[in-house]
Amino acid sequence: MSAAKFEQIGQALREHQRFAVLSHVRPDGDALGSQLAAGMSLRKLGKDVRIWNEEGMLEKYSFLPNSDLLTKPPAEPEDFDVILALDTAIQNRLGNTVAAIKSAKVWINIDHHPSNPGYGDLVYINPHAPATGEILFELIKSQNLPIDRAIAENLYVAISTDTGSFQYPNTTARTFEIAAELVRIGVDVGAVSQLTYENYPRRRVELLRDLLGTMRFDANDRVASFSLSLAFAKRLGVLPEDNEGLIDHLRAIHGVVVAIFLEELADGKVRVSMRSKSDKVNVCAICEKFGGGGHVLAAGARVKGTLAEVEKKILEETCDVLSRLS
Ligand code: 5GP
Ligand code: MN
Repeated sequence: MSAAKFEQIGQALREHQRFAVLSHVRPDGDALGSQLAAGMSLRKLGKDVRIWNEEGMLEKYSFLPNSDLLTKPPAEPEDFDVILALDTAIQNRLGNTVAAIKSAKVWINIDHHPSNPGYGDLVYINPHAPATGEILFELIKSQNLPIDRAIAENLYVAISTDTGSFQYPNTTARTFEIAAELVRIGVDVGAVSQLTYENYPRRRVELLRDLLGTMRFDANDRVASFSLSLAFAKRLGVLPEDNEGLIDHLRAIHGVVVAIFLEELADGKVRVSMRSKSDKVNVCAICEKFGGGGHVLAAGARVKGTLAEVEKKILEETCDVLSRLS
């Protein structure tokens, strides 16, 4: 199935000329690394490529090779042959990049979110792949698309971040085989890991200190949560990107099954981020009840209401799910 689909996608990539490579708002390492890797491979094929994200390149991922190729979308819309949407479960999470597309002949949707409904003309969704970067590696290999050390580094960061440094249960033997191939192509694991995980701004740790001050436990300590108000974020001067991964401090606690992070947004909504340590607790299903989505063990939603209101609703729903467990 994947061989035929990769062949179709490969053909579309070879036969067209103008490409836009897009991914989701609030991008993570998989989104940005995948966008750069795909865009760079297409450029090496001689294509005209735009690589756009609503947020532009994040400061903390600006070490990615050729990171300056990824920009915010322009105000003036452009014409394309192909739009490549990567790692994006629903089209509206492409944010304002869509407004910069005047026309497109073909939409290609490559993703690993099980909740992806399969929008677009050429669709490849593999919910078993731990990262979109892993799917892109398979596509590049099967279609003999260009790959070099810089592309490999972007794919490595995509896979490393979406597997929690090869620790999450989605990590397979194939993931390690792909990582090994990327290292053979030239990825320096120590250097890339240091840039990815040991290069945080001080304000991120100060944010963690404040978040831990709001930490609470529910459902007999099986649910741990903390929250960030707009006022706190403003006082610390934190950027939205600073909180990626902080939820792992809750997940890492013995006995905790569900970790929840709530972040007040400026638009009257609260961003909910959830992690589960048990495949019996599907946090994607919980987030879908609130209009969100994601994966069984990692999901999110944007919910209308104040921090206190959303916290109450999410905790009630989560505690209810846990109470039905045993
Ligand atoms: P995170 O908690 O890291 O922001 O997101 C975890 C997972 O949930 C990611 O795979 C992400 O794509 C998904 N996700 C996060 N927020 C939303 C949302 O508002 N809507 C949907 N559909 N998925 C989300
Ligand atoms: Mn991903």
